[in-house]
Amino acid sequence: MTPRSITILGATGSIGASTLDLVRRGKDRWRVVALTANGNAAELARLALDLRPEIAVVADEASLPALRAALAGSGIAAAGGAAALIEAASRPADITIAAIVGCAGLAPTMAAIEQGGVIALANKEALVSAGDVMTAAVTRHAATLLPIDSEHNAIFQCLAGNDPAHVRSITLTASGGPFRDWSAEQLAVATPAQAVKHPNWDMGAKISVDSATMFNKGLELIEAHHLFPVGLDRLRIIVHPQSVVHSMVEYRDGSTLAQLGPSDMRVPIASALAWPARMDTPCAPLDLAAIGELTFRAPDEVRFPATRLARQAAEAGGATPAVLNAANEIAVAAFLAGQIGFTRIAAHVEDVLSCYTPPAPASLGDVVAVDAEARQCARSLMPAC
Ligand code: NAD
Ligand code: MG
Repeated sequence: MTPRSITILGATGSIGASTLDLVRRGKDRWRVVALTANGNAAELARLALDLRPEIAVVADEASLPALRAALAGSGIAAAGGAAALIEAASRPADITIAAIVGCAGLAPTMAAIEQGGVIALANKEALVSAGDVMTAAVTRHAATLLPIDSEHNAIFQCLAGNDPAHVRSITLTASGGPFRDWSAEQLAVATPAQAVKHPNWDMGAKISVDSATMFNKGLELIEAHHLFPVGLDRLRIIVHPQSVVHSMVEYRDGSTLAQLGPSDMRVPIASALAWPARMDTPCAPLDLAAIGELTFRAPDEVRFPATRLARQAAEAGGATPAVLNAANEIAVAAFLAGQIGFTRIAAHVEDVLSCYTPPAPASLGDVVAVDAEARQCARSLMPAC
């Protein structure tokens, strides 16, 4: 069997590690084209020496000498900087895992889309920011966008073989994050260390904070709006603390289809890697008797305003979701750096949304410009400290 070619954008992250674990278990089935990282040259070189890609790329050019030194004599090309990242993403690959965190992943993901292969998308911020610009590029280049965000992968599976015209509603489940039962007073003094400790999932710092604020679910609502265009009024969110039901689709006859699985990202990643077939994973099988109870409750948009802000941004459309995303990225970084308190994250996003309203972007260049300006606005509104 000819090996399938694969590129992993964001190979050193949490999604990158889960993907590489699956690739490593079936090494003869894969040919790795490119592996990329931000600045961790040592880790990227370790992965590259194991998986033998054509090229390894660090986005941060300052890390290139270290990458070059670590790969010297290996026959694996080393490159650095934004243009090199895009060049690597443009190399033909049967499947590209888009797993860079934040809007930084947008340009390389778009470069991969332009090759017309399969894009397994984890990088929700790119789709939230680019929206129609990205989905139009997918159509134009006959690419296939497969969601690996667990909720969207679940919805994708629940929609398979069914006519979307018969969908009554789509419900995204949310764990509620580590603070779901905290009072407003407790939230006001929540620390970064507490925020990144997710009860069910082991993830990167940014998405862990997003999960604690519920911006993750807000971004996912906008992501779902682009992936499954059934209308915003048919998209719902429900808090499900056990993270066993990954999302649901309700049909007009009253049937609801749900996808269940362990809280292990290797399950949705495997579903994309093998699509439309299936593959084995080493994930522990779901033991519902041991779990015992599955519970559900409505989200609280007073303590967690993020989903309300995201829904409003999706309704406004145009550049608003890109502004929301950029403001959130800046606020999360400031929270992790100890500059602002936890509840200030959503307040800051709301402030930026109310004072920066650019026109709708029509191209990748427009989205990149909106993202840069929104970040500048978000920084300028940050309390000095
Ligand atoms: P992470 O922080 O663990 O890894 C991020 C990766 O992106 C790393 O390889 C890092 O080197 C690279 N990167 C960071 N900044 C970069 C930049 N400026 N330029 C180029 N590369 C850069 O993040 P993660 O948890 O793996 O999440 C990755 C994406 O997947 C995010 O968009 C997240 O929302 C999404 N996602 C993650 C999970 C999860 O379980 N971790 C689940 C669903 C969706
Ligand atoms: Mg998710």
